[in-house]
Amino acid sequence: MFIEIENLRSEPLHVHHVFPVGEIRFIHEDAALNEPVETDFILTHKDRDLYLDGTVQTAIRFRCSRCDKEFFRTFSTSFDLSYLPQPKWTNENAEIELKYEDMGVGYYDGVTFDVGLMVLEQIELAMPMNFICREDCKGLCYKCGADLNEKACQCVKEESDYRLSVLVDFKKKMDK
Ligand SMILES: [Zn+2]
Ligand SMILES: [Zn+2]
Repeated sequence: MFIEIENLRSEPLHVHHVFPVGEIRFIHEDAALNEPVETDFILTHKDRDLYLDGTVQTAIRFRCSRCDKEFFRTFSTSFDLSYLPQPKWTNENAEIELKYEDMGVGYYDGVTFDVGLMVLEQIELAMPMNFICREDCKGLCYKCGADLNEKACQCVKEESDYRLSVLVDFKKKMDK
């Protein structure tokens, strides 16, 4: 979805748009957009400077980095952004760019605003750092591959027996 800046009127524009699955080019090794992406925002502008205030919602399918199972999360994020026409590149405005980075300022070509790209950036910004199906996911046994959420495997037991026996040996030596 694109907005032509020259068609904007002076009053705020209410945009509600649903991107069908696959339309947002979201590329991630262990996550995929699972449902249409819905965005709702108010666009105001001053000449070619744009101000957007709204939300993005969808659902994401993740692969748990511990147990390797897929899980789904609904996802919603709100944003309050400014988009300015891309300045010409000089050393001077390289500094401006850095300063604006924290303030939710982005750039566009000053002619056509790409709503899909903005939505994609908002999803990527709000993605969790780790994909974990639940806080206490025990993951897979690194030896036999058993899902430790479902059952404890023998490997863990043997290992702790081993550790325990080392301790016992140590204690025996100390006692001597
Ligand atoms: Zn997990
Ligand atoms: Zn095991």
